[in-house]
Amino acid sequence: MTFKTIVYSILICSSFIACSTDSESTPSFTDGNNDIITEEIKERNRKNVGSSANDLLSNSTYKSTVFEIFYVKDYKPTDETIENFKKFVTERLNKSKGWELRLEEITVPAKTSYTVDDIIAMENNLRTQYNTDDKIAVFGIYLDAEYANNTENGSVLGIAYQNTSFAIFENTVKSFSNKPLAPSRTVLSSTVLNHEFGHLLGLVNVGSNMQTDHQDTAHGKHCNVEDCLMFWTAETGEGLLNSITGGQIPTLDPQCIADLQANGGK
Ligand SMILES: [Zn+2]
Ligand SMILES: [Zn+2]
Repeated sequence: MTFKTIVYSILICSSFIACSTDSESTPSFTDGNNDIITEEIKERNRKNVGSSANDLLSNSTYKSTVFEIFYVKDYKPTDETIENFKKFVTERLNKSKGWELRLEEITVPAKTSYTVDDIIAMENNLRTQYNTDDKIAVFGIYLDAEYANNTENGSVLGIAYQNTSFAIFENTVKSFSNKPLAPSRTVLSSTVLNHEFGHLLGLVNVGSNMQTDHQDTAHGKHCNVEDCLMFWTAETGEGLLNSITGGQIPTLDPQCIADLQANGGK
């Protein structure tokens, strides 16, 4: 299986266009109705970051959301992180039938780093939840090693890489939370999780049209308001340590919220 990945924003922005170019047959998955999930169905969840923003935010096609989150042993998101995410999701998503979360532990061969292609290959093996008629599916993975494209200036904590897919480099999160005066692992991890999901919701200017001009174009698909969740520093360890004050998880500023509301969200 081969993947062609075009990285359109480097390192810190981490929004990717990734497309699988092969359709190997893996007919073993079925949806809740025991229908076979075809490659054609899976392709709906293999599109560009932000392209499903309206589907995720609004209640027009999909009435509920299922989050399928896998984690490598010892890198499970904390209960508090999940609670924070739940709050973020219910505050912003307009879903009449709510949401569902599936958390599953995985074991993986030891690795020192992951590329986007590595992560997509894992997703293709693990993922069982794809969009159905009225439910939209989101895949997340908590990893035990760092991002392959880290540099000495930036340790990436998370990436959003397809329309309904994100990855969190939880061991990097852990290592930053152990630094002197650092916020807790839950605060760092929650910030990154909410931030990456914010990209899937189309922020900033990547699927949810801006109602006012607030894109920090120098840093890609990010907001120019420094204390906003979508400020660019929220996804590198170095940036986050400098920007989180008082141990609080950053929230969306009014401009980001206005973009989501204009695209069907709350
Ligand atoms: Zn970002
Ligand atoms: Zn903002």
